[in-house]
Formats: sequence, C-alpha cells, structure tokens
Amino acid sequence: MVISARSRARTASAASTRAFAVRPHRALRRGGRSTVDNLRLRCPAHNQLEADQTYGAGFMAVKREGAKAARAEARKQLEADLVSGLRSLRFTVTEAKEAARRCMEALPNAPSRTWSGTR
Ligand SMILES: [Zn+2]
Repeated sequence: MVISARSRARTASAASTRAFAVRPHRALRRGGRSTVDNLRLRCPAHNQLEADQTYGAGFMAVKREGAKAARAEARKQLEADLVSGLRSLRFTVTEAKEAARRCMEALPNAPSRTWSGTR
C-alpha cells in the first residue's frame, strides 16, 4: 500500500497510521529530496519491499538481523535493570526475577525506539 503524503490525512485513520512509515519515495542517498512530493506513507510490508529493492535484500537482511539482535540485547538489559531495581527495594532474587519476567511479558515491545533510560 503506497499513499502520497498529501492524501494520507484523507485515507488513513489515526489508529491505522501507527505501524505505517513515512519514507522518501526516492531514497535521499540515491538523490531523492526532502520534499513533500518525495514522501510516501507505507505499510510495514511495502516499506520492507521498497528497502529491499533500493538497497538489496541481502544488505537489508543483515540490517534487520542487527536491529533484531540490538532489540534483544536492549530487552535483556532492561530486564536486568528491573531485577536490580527491585533487589535494591529488598525484594528477594526470586521475587525480583519473577516480577521482571512478568513486566517483560506484559511489555513485548519494550524498550521502544524512543526509550531513553536513565544510564
Ligand atoms: Zn502496503
């Protein structure tokens, strides 16, 4: 699904835009410009397809694997921070680990890309 930036307000509800991405139609590094006419709103599948076609499926597979590993590491760190914080509040190791496990289960997308943390 590809929608021009100009028509997105008319064609997409606020709820359905959350997973959509606004990206340059012609990539900036390929000579595209940062103008409204060069922007497109894409669903995740078409955003991925466009990236594969622009940069190559192999290159993007490596990038996606790297991003996946970084997310997994960030989740591991968040869970460790939760356990540490709960331990400092005098919860037992067992209680802290169980509570952290439940938090991670309840927050499958944490930490988000905008997560700032306190470190
Ligand atoms: Zn689509």
